[in-house]
Amino acid sequence: MDFELSEENRIFQKAIRDFAQKEIAPLVEEAEATNVFPKQLFRKMGEQGFLCPRYPVELGGGGGDKITECIMVEELNRINAGIAASLMAQSGLATQPIYKYGSEEQKKNILIPAIKGEKVGAFALTEPNAGSDAASIQTRAVRDGDSYIINGAKIFITNGPFCDYVIVAAYTDPSKRGNGINLFIVERGTPGFSVARKLDKVGNRSIETGELVFEDCRVPAKNMIGDKEGGGFSQIADTLISGRITYGARCVGTAQAAYDLTVQYAKERVQFGKPIIKFQATRFKLAEMAMNIDIMRTYTYKVAWMYEQGRNVRKEASMVKLFTAEILQKILSDCMQIHGGYGYMMEYPIQRYWRDGRLFTITEGTSEIQRLIIAKELGF
Ligand SMILES: Cc1cc2nc3c(=O)[nH]c(=O)nc-3n(C[C@H](O)[C@H](O)[C@H](O)COP(=O)(O)OP(=O)(O)OC[C@H]3O[C@@H](n4cnc5c(N)ncnc54)[C@H](O)[C@@H]3O)c2cc1C
Repeated sequence: MDFELSEENRIFQKAIRDFAQKEIAPLVEEAEATNVFPKQLFRKMGEQGFLCPRYPVELGGGGGDKITECIMVEELNRINAGIAASLMAQSGLATQPIYKYGSEEQKKNILIPAIKGEKVGAFALTEPNAGSDAASIQTRAVRDGDSYIINGAKIFITNGPFCDYVIVAAYTDPSKRGNGINLFIVERGTPGFSVARKLDKVGNRSIETGELVFEDCRVPAKNMIGDKEGGGFSQIADTLISGRITYGARCVGTAQAAYDLTVQYAKERVQFGKPIIKFQATRFKLAEMAMNIDIMRTYTYKVAWMYEQGRNVRKEASMVKLFTAEILQKILSDCMQIHGGYGYMMEYPIQRYWRDGRLFTITEGTSEIQRLIIAKELGF
């Protein structure tokens, strides 16, 4: 057993940490205040192989693996959860289906520019009436000669308002629940594809989240990912399994940043004549947080390693997502408590982590859905 990051991983960790401090941290306040994502980051990160670190160098990636991607996501989340979310959508959901199942042409025209940060992607599964119950999506793709005509609406789509392309889930055969779904690449500017609105969120304000509409949107048949109708659901499941591991790293990064801020605050804040970190009540909370962060991190990276070994981690990926997101809620609540009234003020940064982290039990499969998956995998 070896629980250490490799030398290569450590070098990457330092490089991405320095990059995040120097290039991303100065952009956070404005992005949060304006709800506008600093789009130059896609190219900047792409140029250095930071954007999609686990894809091969020949495709413009960093030549790393799932562990490398987790390191990237953890480090970015320490700086800002919203910015991290947009970038991790690109490194995972918006590229993995093409990387694993796409045609050579799709790889050349969409995937490689996406890995390099020249094109921004989005992944659109959720609909106004189909969230957890993804098999109930109503978007349809009807074959017409050499094209498909897509009709439907998608909601809560990360990067949706400004993406250059979106991977859309649609039924090609609605008679087969789940099994009749396919993924399609729809490029910006395709007639019939529009952004209905940008959504106003409680946290993660630097992500641009949108509602997308497809109205008689005609795309070439070659934009379907995979070569047979009905293969989409397993592509989606595979993409989400990978995403749940990365999500663990997202929770670790947020937890670590909130903990660091809280330790610093507890050392500085004096009550009853001593810094509050001297009170046992504070120290116990911090001790428990440190323990939980260690467990969150160890388990996330273990499952990332298992994924790299090619093992079936459907159950473990859900365990990572469920555990890290739920424990994070307790950590953030305790961080807020230690900050007292100041923590509730917008001028203190802890409130942002508290608002941002609240999302994590909801997106990419709610905690309840992770429990359902784990129970099913256990054979219950
Ligand atoms: C900021 C943000 C960004 C997002 N980005 C994307 C994106 O890029 N692409 C995309 O496709 N989607 C995205 N989503 C959608 C996200 O994945 C969904 O919100 C999530 O899957 C939950 O779906 P829902 O919101 O419709 O909730 P619902 O499915 O309506 O669930 C509501 C509640 O009911 C519970 N529930 C539902 N079914 C069951 C059940 N069978 N048993 C027990 N409890 C159940 C849920 O756990 C939850 O607590 C994003 C969402 C947000 C908020």
